[in-house]
Amino acid sequence: MTASKKNIIGSPLQELEQFVVSLNEPKYRAGQIYQWLYKYRVRSFDEMTNLSQLLREKLKDVAAIEQFSVATSQTSHIDGTVKFLFELSDGKKIETVLIAPRATAVDADERMTLCISTQVGCPLDCRFCATASMGFIRNLTAAEILNQFLTAQHLSKKPITNIVFMGMGEPMLNYSNVMTAMDIMTDQNGIGISPRRITISTAGYAQQIRKMADEDRKMKLALSLHSLRNDVRTELMPINKKFDVEELLSALEYYQKKTKKSVMLEYILFNGINDTEADIHALVKATKRFECRVNLIPFHSIEFTNPQGIAAQLHGASQEKIMAFWRRLKAHGVTAFIRHSAGIDIDAACGQLAVKEEALV
Ligand code: SAH
Repeated sequence: MTASKKNIIGSPLQELEQFVVSLNEPKYRAGQIYQWLYKYRVRSFDEMTNLSQLLREKLKDVAAIEQFSVATSQTSHIDGTVKFLFELSDGKKIETVLIAPRATAVDADERMTLCISTQVGCPLDCRFCATASMGFIRNLTAAEILNQFLTAQHLSKKPITNIVFMGMGEPMLNYSNVMTAMDIMTDQNGIGISPRRITISTAGYAQQIRKMADEDRKMKLALSLHSLRNDVRTELMPINKKFDVEELLSALEYYQKKTKKSVMLEYILFNGINDTEADIHALVKATKRFECRVNLIPFHSIEFTNPQGIAAQLHGASQEKIMAFWRRLKAHGVTAFIRHSAGIDIDAACGQLAVKEEALV
C-alpha cells in the first residue's frame, strides 16, 4: 500500500461517505463499499460488483484495503486452537487466537471464539502476564483490530461467533480505536456480531468503565480482579496504585446500575497468594454489591518469558484447589465458572501472548 492511498478498513460509514463524496461519487456508494468490506468481506475492489468498472478503477488509484501481509499460524495438537502471528504494515507483530470450544460444550459445533489484541505489547506490567515482558510498543489502529477478525475469519473454516478482547494489550488504553472497531463489528450492515457475544476485559480503568456505562455500550465487560486486597493486587498489578479495589468496585456498581448488565470478575488462582478462606469471603462480599459472575482462571505458565522477582514465584493453584474454591463460592450463592484453557501447548492460552524472539527473525 502506498502512503498516499487511503486505507478504507476501519473507517466508520460517515467517514467513508465523506471520502466517496470527495471523489465526486454519490454518498450511497459508501454504504455499498462498507457492506462489501464487512458483510461480504471481500478483499479487493474488483469483487465489489455493484460498483461501476470506472469507480472500481478510481478506488484502486486512491484507496487500499489494508491486509496483514504475513500471517503465520500454529495449531494446538490438543484442541485445535490456532494462534496467528500477524505482521503489521510497520513490521510489528501481534498475536490473535482462534479458540476452539471445549469438546464437551453443548454448543461446541456452533461456537468459535476469537481473542483479539488491542496494543503491540502492553504498558501495564501485570506480573503474571507474558505480554508485559514485551513492554509497550504502540496502540493498534481500528483497522488493525478489525483486520484480526477479517483475516482470521478468512482463514477459519467455521464462522467466528464470539469475540473476546483478551489478547495483547489493555483495551481501555486504546479506547477510541477499540470502540470504532467495535461499532463496525456490531453493526448489522457491518460484521454483524451481536454485542452480547463480545467481551471486553480490562485490568481496571475505573474512568473508562464509567464511560462505557455512560455511552450505553452493549458488549460484556470483564474485570481482571485477582485479589480484593490492595497490597496483594498492587504487587500483582501495579495499575492498582492508580485505581484501587474500592474504586474499581464502585465503578462496576455504577456500570451495573446504569446498564443493568452483569459483569464478569476474572480471578486467577495463585497458590498461597489469593486462595485462602479470607479471599473467598472478600470475593463473596464483593459479588453481593452488583450482579456479576466469577470466572476462575487457571494460571498459565509464563516461564518462557524468563520471569523475575515476584513473577518468578507465582504458581497456579492445583485443579483440586480451584474446584474447592469454586465449590465454596457456589455454596455462598455466587455464580462462578472455571475458565477452560485452550491452546496450552502453543502458548496461546490466556495471558501467554508474547511474541517470541524466534518468531521475530
Ligand atoms: N489487559 C486486559 C486484557 C488482556 S489479559 C486485562 O487485563 O483484562 C486477558 C485475560 O488474561 C485477563 O483476565 C488476565 O487477567 C488473564 N491473564 C493474564 N495473564 C495470565 C496468565 N499467565 N494465566 C492466566 N490468565 C492470565
